[in-house]
Amino acid sequence: MPNARPILRATLDAVPAYVPGSTAPAGWKLSSNELAHPPLDGVLDAVSTAATQMNRYPDLAAVEVRSSLADRLDVPVRHIAVGAGSSELLQQVMRIAVDPGDEVVYAWRSFESYPIVTGLAGARAVEVPLNEDESHDLPAMADAVSDRTRAVVVCTPNNPTGRALRSSELSDFLARIPSTVLIVLDEAYTEFATGPDRVDGARIYRDHPNLVVLRTFSKAYGLAGLRIGYAIAHESVAEALRKAAVPFGVSSVAQAAAVASLERHDRLIRRVAAVVAERTRVRDTLRSQGWTVPDSAANFVWLRLTDRTSDFTEHCRRVGITVRPYEPDGVRITIGEPAANDALLRAAGTYSYRNRGGRRQ
Ligand SMILES: *Cc1c(COP(=O)(O)O)cnc(C)c1O
Repeated sequence: MPNARPILRATLDAVPAYVPGSTAPAGWKLSSNELAHPPLDGVLDAVSTAATQMNRYPDLAAVEVRSSLADRLDVPVRHIAVGAGSSELLQQVMRIAVDPGDEVVYAWRSFESYPIVTGLAGARAVEVPLNEDESHDLPAMADAVSDRTRAVVVCTPNNPTGRALRSSELSDFLARIPSTVLIVLDEAYTEFATGPDRVDGARIYRDHPNLVVLRTFSKAYGLAGLRIGYAIAHESVAEALRKAAVPFGVSSVAQAAAVASLERHDRLIRRVAAVVAERTRVRDTLRSQGWTVPDSAANFVWLRLTDRTSDFTEHCRRVGITVRPYEPDGVRITIGEPAANDALLRAAGTYSYRNRGGRRQ
């Protein structure tokens, strides 16, 4: 075999590989923030009908999904762009705003795609540590913006810590960011966030032409396997995102599933309510076992286990539960079906007591 290798971009050396939440051979998978519920019947029917047309390209402009979203969110259709999951939209954001050598500011620890897409763009990552309570340090993030900053990413609720920002603190932050810098509001878990001062990107983007909101059908809507997400932004940004998309990247099957899901919004939101109730039960039970658990506004909870991260992950694995370790910070546990959560709570309850407290309150 010839051993000469093509020259690839040097910037790839600095790009971490995406680590997916692994699956236990048998048991409970609480590692990828998926919805545990199976698809609704009507969504499955829409998918099978769309599948009969798989010899055709999908609708490039995704007109039907974008119109359904526009109606639901009360925004103009031209303010919406779709992508193969919001992960793809995040890459599009980098393609439209960031050149090699530019800076991208985001909180850390947060979604693990941020360092990857930043690195692929050849940009410099400016990572701002989370507050002690696991929330974004918004004042420090605003301070980190420089002349070279082209994008600032805010994740609320934050993956993997679950903390959500209040809309009032987000407003103060937005006011501090120059209007020439693109702000990405990653709301992958917005449907799970409750409370009067919750952030609603679909409303606040109206006053901010430099804001792009990313949302997904992968989490609350239960369509992770089909790959569809969307962005909401003013026309210049939304149009640029559409230009930067992989042509026909969102399949007809995914588009049909998204439209059918939006038609069944009320039923889906009832499922979200069930997840939220389980989240409260899991959090309260863990706390009563002596664990330090931050409030979560998403479909997972976070344990800041620091140097016990892999030990606890292994402890769960031995009883058939897969959780998501983030060395060296902690473990993220998805809220699953009640039986899975029971199994997790049993495992947590039998973990060595002195190792349960995180270093943060
Ligand atoms: C899951 C997730 C996404 C996107 O997932 P897709 O399946 O690509 O839509 C985006 N941001 C965060 C923070 C996530 O956790």
